[in-house]
Amino acid sequence: MKINTLIVGAEQLLTFDDFGGRVPLHGHKMNEIGIVEKGAVAISGNDIVAYGETHDLLSELEIDGETKIIDAKGKLVTPGLVDSHTHPVFSGTREAEFAMRIRGKSYMEIAAAGGGILNTARRTRSASREQMASDASRYLAWMLGSGTTTAEAKSGYGLSLESEMAMLQAIKYLGQTEKIDLVPTFLGAHEFPEEFRGGGEDDYIAVLCDEMIPKIAESELAKFCDVFCEAGVFSLDQTRRICERAKEFDLGIKLHADEIEPMGGTELGVELGAVSIDHMVEVSQLGIERIANSNTVATLLPGTSMFLNKGKFAPARDLIEAGAIVALATDFNPGSSPTTNLPLIMSLACASMRMTPEEVWSAATINAAFAVGLGDKIGSISPGKQADLTIWDVPDYRQVPYFYGVNLMNTVVKNGRIALRK
Ligand SMILES: [Zn+2]
Repeated sequence: MKINTLIVGAEQLLTFDDFGGRVPLHGHKMNEIGIVEKGAVAISGNDIVAYGETHDLLSELEIDGETKIIDAKGKLVTPGLVDSHTHPVFSGTREAEFAMRIRGKSYMEIAAAGGGILNTARRTRSASREQMASDASRYLAWMLGSGTTTAEAKSGYGLSLESEMAMLQAIKYLGQTEKIDLVPTFLGAHEFPEEFRGGGEDDYIAVLCDEMIPKIAESELAKFCDVFCEAGVFSLDQTRRICERAKEFDLGIKLHADEIEPMGGTELGVELGAVSIDHMVEVSQLGIERIANSNTVATLLPGTSMFLNKGKFAPARDLIEAGAIVALATDFNPGSSPTTNLPLIMSLACASMRMTPEEVWSAATINAAFAVGLGDKIGSISPGKQADLTIWDVPDYRQVPYFYGVNLMNTVVKNGRIALRK
């Protein structure tokens, strides 16, 4: 077999290769990160073909003058990070709202002055697909720059068939043209659009179920359907109707649930076989037990709790002790979490949710890969998986969450080729 690229001499490799990286890590298993010291990774074409200690691998493999050697001496090599919950396509930024919130303005005052999801929706609806893609392209470059190689990307600022399709087409275009891979999620149930508020809410559910879901599924523009299940947004009954319809069209289910009030969205999501349930700051004890005994991933978004100064984070420890599959994501969006920096989220998860350094690495790689339905393809350094790797400027994996807010990305390898080098 021809080895195109060989990474050698890494101080540490984190492989997550238990069971060939083909199962997500539940609870305490998240501490089993598969460290190889003085490690090497061999790549053929787009795929990882072998890993091991550098000395052993060099003696086993046939390497010729055409093999590209990447020296990772003194560095850490991990799977490329997977950001499994982002809203990267939107028009306009909301720094004015941020400043108003700091000064104590209410949500209503902020909405009146141009903040909130509906204001982003108004601007996004009037943007062209090209404008949406060019703004998002900049944010995706930031993601890649902090070591992320795959991101989930949601629609949800269009809230009409036409503009949700435009958003998803922009995401498709970006997935084909940018170095980062995107997993598209339809989030038409992000909020009720202005024209359906004040009595027409059930009509919007009908539009979602009868027009948007069938059309988007048939156009193959989304892999998942997501609903903002929360008091004052989509009720449990409405969430169930939307998700059951999406399942008829073979869309996977993701939910924004139990973020602000404990409504039972987690329990509903597990019952519906959701791939992930996200936020979970206010999840009930029953919700913790249900998700811990399922294959649904609990995706925690501590950046949002921090940025909104909520003073409360999702109960990561309880979830892990109970045996849940926990993932971490940025929730990148213009209102509640304008960051693309997943390593910073890992630091926050350690400091504010008492996740161990080992657990945050599992949560941003292997478990996040399962949260986007790509656990068989990415998220671990396993032979047969896509060669998406990040090389970090530190010798020890604990230093990435420890040096918080510092960008330690050295090199990103995407599909077997160097995509970015510092
Ligand atoms: Zn979100």
